[in-house]
Amino acid sequence: MATLTGQHALVTGGGSGIGAAIAMTLAQAGAMVTICGRRREPLAAIAAQQAGIFAEPADVTDRDAMIHLYKQAETARGPFSIVVANAGGAKSAPAEDVTAQMWNDTLNVNLTGAFFSVQPALAGLRARGFGRIVFIASTAGLRGAAYVAPYVAAKHGVIGLMRALAAETVKHGITVNAVCPGYTETPMLEGAIAHIVATTKRDAAAARAALTSKNPQGRFITPAEVAAAVLWLCGEATAGITGQAIAISGGETW
Ligand code: NAP
Repeated sequence: MATLTGQHALVTGGGSGIGAAIAMTLAQAGAMVTICGRRREPLAAIAAQQAGIFAEPADVTDRDAMIHLYKQAETARGPFSIVVANAGGAKSAPAEDVTAQMWNDTLNVNLTGAFFSVQPALAGLRARGFGRIVFIASTAGLRGAAYVAPYVAAKHGVIGLMRALAAETVKHGITVNAVCPGYTETPMLEGAIAHIVATTKRDAAAARAALTSKNPQGRFITPAEVAAAVLWLCGEATAGITGQAIAISGGETW
């Protein structure tokens, strides 16, 4: 297991689901972990559960707010060496019904927000000659999926952003990778199931079965599985892995 003693990690969207599991895992490996999200309460609840986790509410779509977060957190706990851009969300609708607001909101949080989460770290990581950047993308960044066009477009964009930053930082001891989960047991998945129940005649069990049927292993991914991959990518042993999109999806993509 990687030892992250002395590292300071930023995990966006760390108050719930995959981000909370990543924050816990990195803190248990010895890192100090700053978590952000828009709501203070879930962040405080996660910070209360695990020593080494610190809550700093911020909206990733607000560039000035992210720069302010960096100033606050780095003054308190030292420069970030690890950034996990995890905050995201999806709403589903047939492409012809996607409003301008839905399109912009989805691109803002999943793609622009991912860039604003990482950009303030770049100069410092380059100067210190070490860094680990991990984007939480999705299998929706690797293949198409129906009724989530803005999300698929945004997550494909995240994969492109990851590759661009990997190319820019490759000579400076920095790795930049993306982890691409399939359907994972989190509040976001519960929202997707509730939407299926509300818009079809199916009950929750049928909705869950419809989603697990998309996974060749016939199951949902757990947040802990995603967190384990992020921990591995944050360690010294993975210095040679950069510019990669790694699916954690039970074989959903080959
Ligand atoms: P989740 O439990 O809903 O977590 C999303 C987190 O992002 C929340 O803590 C939320 O906190 C935060 N967030 C949303 N908008 C934000 C903003 N503008 N600024 C700052 N934080 C914001 O969902 P999850 O499943 O763990 O999702 C985490 C990531 O995994 C997302 O990028 C998602 O696309 C990806 N993913 C999920 C699945 C899945 O099936 N669950 C599959 C593939 C990929 P606030 O609401 O307090 O801001």
